[in-house]
Amino acid sequence: MIDVYIGLGSNLEHPIEQIKQARTAISDQANISEIKFSSLYRSPPMGPQDQPDYVNAVMSVSTSLTALEVLRVLQQIEKDFGRVRKGERWGARTLDLDLLLYADQQINVPDLMVPHIGLSERAFVMYPLAEIVPEYFVVPGKNTVKQLLDQCPLNGLVKLV
Ligand code: ATP
Ligand code: CA
Ligand code: CA
Ligand code: CA
Repeated sequence: MIDVYIGLGSNLEHPIEQIKQARTAISDQANISEIKFSSLYRSPPMGPQDQPDYVNAVMSVSTSLTALEVLRVLQQIEKDFGRVRKGERWGARTLDLDLLLYADQQINVPDLMVPHIGLSERAFVMYPLAEIVPEYFVVPGKNTVKQLLDQCPLNGLVKLV
């Protein structure tokens, strides 16, 4: 079994509910079981600013699936949750599921880059991730989460109670 970290984000149609239901949809997969789930966070949008704030979280799961299989599962769940892909990058969406980490592997194929791009610079990924990783966890090709967090300003990130 492989440990995988997934980033969840939503800024449309009751984002908190979207994230909670996405958690269940992921855990309900036959070959995936939840290990940990972070707090929920609110963060200002990246890119286009004329869209609502995001709700974000990170979860760790254990799986027998390959990284590409996990990606396909996540993309199918995004679809099931009514995500409409438009041309614009970083536009508003009901659900965004990113494959952040797949064990300690570094993957670079046309559809999939792991660790996920921008992971270490994004507060809405790093802060929830730091909640659920073991203390000396190293991001492959980078540094420990602890060290990366020290260099990652909050950028408006707020933890939701
Ligand atoms: P960003 O990737 O910067 O967070 P985004 O999540 O808005 O932006 P999407 O439109 O959801 O981007 O995804 C664009 C493409 O990214 C997808 O078609 C997918 O194949 C590719 N991709 C590459 N690596 C990953 C990954 N680790 N997790 C999810 N998608 C990935
Ligand atoms: Ca399951
Ligand atoms: Ca994303
Ligand atoms: Ca995505």
